[in-house]
Amino acid sequence: MTATVEHDEIERFVFALLQLADASEGLARGIDQGGITPDVTPEEIRQHLDSRFDLSAAMPLDALVREVTGMLDRWIVHVTHRRYFGLFNPSVTTASVVADALVAAYNPQLAAWSHAPAANEIERFTLARLMPYFGFDPDSGVANFTTGGAEANLSALLVALAYRFPEFPRTGTRGLPRQPLVFVSDESHHSLVKAAQMTGLGSQAVRIVPTDAHGRMDVAALEGRVAKERNGGRAPLLVVGTAGSTSTGIIDPLPEIGSFCRQQGLWFHVDAAWGGAAALSPKLRPHLAGIETTDSMVCDAHKWLSVPMGAGMFFCRHREAVLRAFQVHTPYMPVAFGQEVFDPFSTTVQWSRRFIGLKLVMSLAERGLPGYAAMIEEQAELGHYLRDALRASGWDIVNTTPFPVVCFRREGVDAGDLARAIQRHQVAWMSAVAVKGRPALRACITSLRTTREDLYHVVGDINRLADQLSDRGVGPGDVGR
Ligand SMILES: *Cc1c(COP(=O)(O)O)cnc(C)c1O
Repeated sequence: MTATVEHDEIERFVFALLQLADASEGLARGIDQGGITPDVTPEEIRQHLDSRFDLSAAMPLDALVREVTGMLDRWIVHVTHRRYFGLFNPSVTTASVVADALVAAYNPQLAAWSHAPAANEIERFTLARLMPYFGFDPDSGVANFTTGGAEANLSALLVALAYRFPEFPRTGTRGLPRQPLVFVSDESHHSLVKAAQMTGLGSQAVRIVPTDAHGRMDVAALEGRVAKERNGGRAPLLVVGTAGSTSTGIIDPLPEIGSFCRQQGLWFHVDAAWGGAAALSPKLRPHLAGIETTDSMVCDAHKWLSVPMGAGMFFCRHREAVLRAFQVHTPYMPVAFGQEVFDPFSTTVQWSRRFIGLKLVMSLAERGLPGYAAMIEEQAELGHYLRDALRASGWDIVNTTPFPVVCFRREGVDAGDLARAIQRHQVAWMSAVAVKGRPALRACITSLRTTREDLYHVVGDINRLADQLSDRGVGPGDVGR
């Protein structure tokens, strides 16, 4: 018989976790009351650390916690704040915080299936339940958790190389007959360029395809570019479609890119790091049409699925290529109890592996998939509300997306100055981005606690700051003084 932990120890631990759940909700409410953007120099933090952290002597844990939380309270951008409209960093569900604490305490090692059968099977179960939403068949496809979208994009490139050039895992780029090329758009995430650097292809293997007036990949331009490169003796390998781009939330024409890739024998990879979550909503899923034609796909749980970092997911239709890309000289498909199991260390980028999937599955299970769909739809609705409110007070909306990221500008208002003023006055956190080469403000709904009332007040405050900036022609530092 397998040993189990003493029951009263588990009870004590569960009780502590339930207290943690309460505390985590209290913390979230507390963060909402405070500022969002810190005002601190590296010097200030370094001096503080030098004077407060004397690692040569022992420090009691409660004092340490007070010390660290004091620093975190003051000196980070509070991405869980309900008026943080930032770069996809979500506020987090309570269930996911509890899950991550459980993971830390049990510290299961997922590298080998046999070291953490329960944890590995929970991850397999979670991914298998999600795969059909993205058009993947859990029986023939394969998926794994990653630290985030960047690792998942890197995985896609490695697997595409192993698929197209079976010798690649052994010979590396030196064994390749021709230069493989990766096609992205000017809206694609730069982690793909980094992936090209890391695989040894080099950033010069990345070709940037122009986009149309909305920022969607121009498929005719893609076709022309691929033909030209083939004529030049290079080997077009992979095309990246983005579903919910980082700056403007655009969705590339996935069905068209997909059919072009099939016809040309190119690997079709969809980067849906943020937007992929929309697949869980029956209302929003149609916007992702075409993802079922991909060879591989990325979706981050630590973005629109509201769990703590780092939690990405990599999905792929070509199991053999995944095994080929990552296999080392160990048996890669051990058999346990007559069933095929995978050892993540030889089927993914990582070796030692944290139990990433627990925070997602506990969060999904606590709210239920319909509850999640409702949350995602509500955030999309808030995006529409924000668009309407901005339009009604004279702003131009300059991006086109069904997802809740809103880019806006007004003649005579410098987007960079206004973004800084919004941050400095703790109105909200928003950034300035370039949309088709012109600066605009960017606001993304990423907190599950954001309400219409928050947006109403924020738009009012933005209008006042913008009026002050454009009336007086002054820098952001002077506004409101
Ligand atoms: C965030 C993002 C990434 C990178 O993902 P990480 O989780 O930050 O590693 C890649 N692509 C897109 C479209 C993203 O929004």
